[in-house]
Amino acid sequence: MGCAVLIAANWKMHGSLAFADAYFTSAAALRWPEAQQRIVFPPATLLGPARAGAAAAGMVLGAQSIHGAAEGAFTGSLSAEQVAEVGAAWALLGHSERRAQGETDEDVVAQLGAAARAGLRAMVCLGEPLAARNAGQAESFVLAQLAALLAAPGAALGALGAVAYEPLWAIGTGETATPEAAQAMHRCLREALHAQGLGALPLLYGGSVKAENARALLSQNDIDGALVGGASLNLETFHAIARAAIE
Ligand code: PEP
Repeated sequence: MGCAVLIAANWKMHGSLAFADAYFTSAAALRWPEAQQRIVFPPATLLGPARAGAAAAGMVLGAQSIHGAAEGAFTGSLSAEQVAEVGAAWALLGHSERRAQGETDEDVVAQLGAAARAGLRAMVCLGEPLAARNAGQAESFVLAQLAALLAAPGAALGALGAVAYEPLWAIGTGETATPEAAQAMHRCLREALHAQGLGALPLLYGGSVKAENARALLSQNDIDGALVGGASLNLETFHAIARAAIE
């Protein structure tokens, strides 16, 4: 039985002040599993306004992305310090929707350093495209991403708080890795992390996690939690997923 210690919600580019207010007010009235951390990554505009509401609901806030630099001529970007100042405790790095817009492994390493500098914990996403899986190269693809991440300087690596395995073909598609396939990849990641003294790092699965499939995924030995995208926008569903983690 896996021990689902961390459940995260990625709202992507969804949500308004009114939505966040209603979400956290309702969340505060629900009974959530103990000994489980819940992180919500809302759009950055909601970090400040949602700070108190999220805390009252027992949730921690994170930024969906940060820049690697502390400041500079980077129009439209936000630094780790800026998101930390308005309430982020975590940063989501290397999400495939950011990588698809050009972010590289090098950018992710720089962002990890920025997270460390600003005192943020980082959740780093890894995952293979369908072509790599079909070619039998899923593990080598994901292990190469992990190796690039682990090549970060020690001070940066200190910010690494969780790794999320998110196969690209399962994100927002309704397709989910089978629990066995997800477990196999998580085992492989665990071994690679263990070899670097990071075997205790929470390993999350992400990719069309829903109330219906959460239990089967979260009961796998090396799946320590879930990163939930679309389904997390429905509080009842997110609650059911969090509960499935302990049932
Ligand atoms: C995500 O955005 O990280 C994600 C896993 O999305 P979804 O759950 O919608 O597939």
